[in-house]
Amino acid sequence: MPTPHVVPPLPGAKARRILKLDETFVSPSQTRVYPLVVDHAEGCWVWDVDGNCFLDFTAGVAVNATGHCHPHVVAAIEEQAKKLLHFSAADFYYPQYTQLCKRLADLAPGAEPKKVFLCNSGAEAVEAAMKLARYYTRRPYFLAFYGAFHGRTLGALSLNASKPVHREGFAPLLPHVAHAPYGELDFLTEVLFRRTLPPREVAAIFVEAIQGEGGYIVPPDDFLIGLRELCDAHGMLLVVDEVQSGMGRTGKMWAIEHTGVVPDILCFAKGVASGLPLGGIIAKAHLMTWGAGSHASTFGGNPVSCAAALATIDLLENGLMENAARVGAFLQERLRTLQAQGSLISDVRGRGLMLGVEFSRDGAPATRERDLIIQKAFERGLLLLPCGTDVIRICPPLTLTEAEAEMGLEIFRECLA
Ligand code: PLP
Repeated sequence: MPTPHVVPPLPGAKARRILKLDETFVSPSQTRVYPLVVDHAEGCWVWDVDGNCFLDFTAGVAVNATGHCHPHVVAAIEEQAKKLLHFSAADFYYPQYTQLCKRLADLAPGAEPKKVFLCNSGAEAVEAAMKLARYYTRRPYFLAFYGAFHGRTLGALSLNASKPVHREGFAPLLPHVAHAPYGELDFLTEVLFRRTLPPREVAAIFVEAIQGEGGYIVPPDDFLIGLRELCDAHGMLLVVDEVQSGMGRTGKMWAIEHTGVVPDILCFAKGVASGLPLGGIIAKAHLMTWGAGSHASTFGGNPVSCAAALATIDLLENGLMENAARVGAFLQERLRTLQAQGSLISDVRGRGLMLGVEFSRDGAPATRERDLIIQKAFERGLLLLPCGTDVIRICPPLTLTEAEAEMGLEIFRECLA
């Protein structure tokens, strides 16, 4: 097993050259937290262009579910790439698309038959869900939650409510979107539905089973169950966004399975194809009333991404989901011990390998300290990412071993100290 190995200064000479080019030619709108310039990666390990080696607790933002460049996934991609790169399922058929849709339909929660639409990203999946919900219900409103992140296209962006920077400068957004506090059912029934929002005009409630970008927040057990009941009572659709929490990350294929709730539409992306662009929705089959031409995508579900996804699902079903549950529980317990030792850690939460560590000082969010820990970890060879205002998210590849987790924890402890 590799070990983290960093030769200061960071960024190294080769990385600095790329960063300079990047500054000149690349859109400055991205949120790079530290100057990591990746050369190659394997499993949970990442090497930068200067030969520094990092342990990856980010998985390319919760994407590389099967670890970087898993041989089974790479072989599936190579084999498919030699046969067919693209043919557009918008206008034609190819087996990989259909086979993957069947596989995903079978994996979705609930006994009712399902149908699947494939696209290229999480935001596109959310757009598809928004369009299908409106199309089916012919209702104008959407309801989403504070802290939500659903993507950056204008429709998905209108549902977001995690950081003003996501919205600033892009108005007008979609009208007819209401927001409510995440985890608080009473606000819907006692305030929104009583005062401003007629529930019979709401097409769908969009909710993350565990809030991602907003701070890795696990809602109270009865919240999602309550949303399901409200949807049933008022004919609204329940759209569960599993873009970040799905594909085995929480120890089950979908995070919503921890609650027993069956969504009407489920959005997925990120981990589904181990890093190749792919997203989509799984909807109850009777909802897919839209006809030919009403929604499609040139690239969505291209054959290579589909082959990677089929290989990814094999791996998730053959051990990686269980590994996420087991190593995630181990990591969570160790982090709680660290919290109990009186550090800046005010909360440790999550499921499986979707873990959030929250920092506070004297009861206030410790954003500066959180950011400093992430920088220090980078300098010591551990890759971490922030979320919310004061949270570090831990979302490593689902191949993470206990030994690797222990190694990351050791660096984390040093940084905290
Ligand atoms: N939905 C959730 C819950 C996400 O976390 C993200 C991205 O982080 C998205 C949607 C958007 O996905 P993408 O960046 O692939 O468009």
